[in-house]
Order: sequence, then structure tokens, then C-alpha cells
Amino acid sequence: MNIVLLGGPGSGKGTVSNLLEKTQNIAHIATGDMFREEIKNETELGKKAQEFMNKGMLVPDEITINMLKGKINQYKNANGVVFDGFPRNRNQAEALEKMLEEMGQKVDVALYLDMPDEDIIYRTVKRRICSNKDCGEIYNLEFKKPKQEGICDICGSKLIQRKDDNEETITNRLKVYHEQSKDLIKYYEEKKLIYRVELHANIDITEEMTKEWLANYNSNR
Ligand SMILES: [Zn+2]
Repeated sequence: MNIVLLGGPGSGKGTVSNLLEKTQNIAHIATGDMFREEIKNETELGKKAQEFMNKGMLVPDEITINMLKGKINQYKNANGVVFDGFPRNRNQAEALEKMLEEMGQKVDVALYLDMPDEDIIYRTVKRRICSNKDCGEIYNLEFKKPKQEGICDICGSKLIQRKDDNEETITNRLKVYHEQSKDLIKYYEEKKLIYRVELHANIDITEEMTKEWLANYNSNR
């Protein structure tokens, strides 16, 4: 199952992706991480992307699409992938669809995590993440505290706060997000692929809702 994950910054996309990866073996492709990895490894595509970034330009969709193609091939043994961070607009959605079609695949569902802005802000400033990249467990000082303060329950690494997880940054990002996503959500609504999950700030609910959605989705197939 290939999933396009939609939702504002801090709406729980990381939590949902981790859950899908661990319980369903659906690989998580976060576009931001993918760029960083390709650039660090100095791949052909990474070098090209870096050139655009150095000029302060957006990386052309064609480069991103080719990176995604490589990633999908890398995850052949998974039960599909979660696209997180791409597409961000209608053109990109169409490009993704075309690429998947050429690979004999498709987007099965656009999972839209719909959380009120105030909840997102409240939750984001309380978020802490595991500094161990292979673990990446997400905590929340309000809803999902680690057993030992500042330490990951799973791997024992230090928990960190992302520097972007503050009110001012998140408010700005939400504004940009809403402007960008309106059309994209409409696109997937027209395709009848959208599945809207209404969420509130409690992180445990995000997990519950995702499990419920999966159970429904699988039984209706
Ligand atoms: Zn950890």
C-alpha cells in the first residue's frame, strides 16, 4: 500500500509513519531526510540538488522524483511506502502519479491528518525526539513522557528538541502549509483517495486512530 501523508507540520506524521513502519512494514520516505542523505553521500542526484540549493533555488521536481524512484526500489521488500513531504502541490502529485504508474504502482490512499492549528502549536513545543536516527522515537512532555527524563525508553539515547519546534516558527510554517495544501487536498478529494482523520493534541489518539483506520481500510478492501 502506497500512502501519501498529508497534514500540517506537527500534526503527527512522524508518529503515524513510525507506526506504519513498525506494524505494517511500510517504509517511510521523508523527503527532507532523503535530500540530506543523497547530498551527504554525494550521489549524482544529490550533487545536482545541492547546486540548486546553493543558488537558493528550489530543487526541480524531476530530481526529487528520480530520488524517490531510487528509494522505492531500495524498499522492494516493504509492503509499500509512505510519502512524507512530497507531493506539496498538484503538479508534484501528478508527477508522482506518473512515476508510480510507470513502475506498475499507484497511490492507494492520501491519509490526511487534520488537526486544529492551536493543537498543533501546543503539541509541537512539547515535543522531544530521540537523537538516535535509527530509532527516531517521538515523545511529548504532556502526552507521552519518557520513563526517565530526557532519555529514550527504547534505545536509551538522549532526547532532543528540534530547534524549529517553537511557537513562532510553527505558526509561520502552518501559514505556508495551509496556502500550499488546499489545492493538494482538493486534488486527492477529486480522486476519491483522501481519508481524513480528525485529530486532537493527544498523541495516543493519533496511534489509536491510525490503527482504527488501518483495520477499516484492510477490511473494506
Ligand atoms: Zn531511541
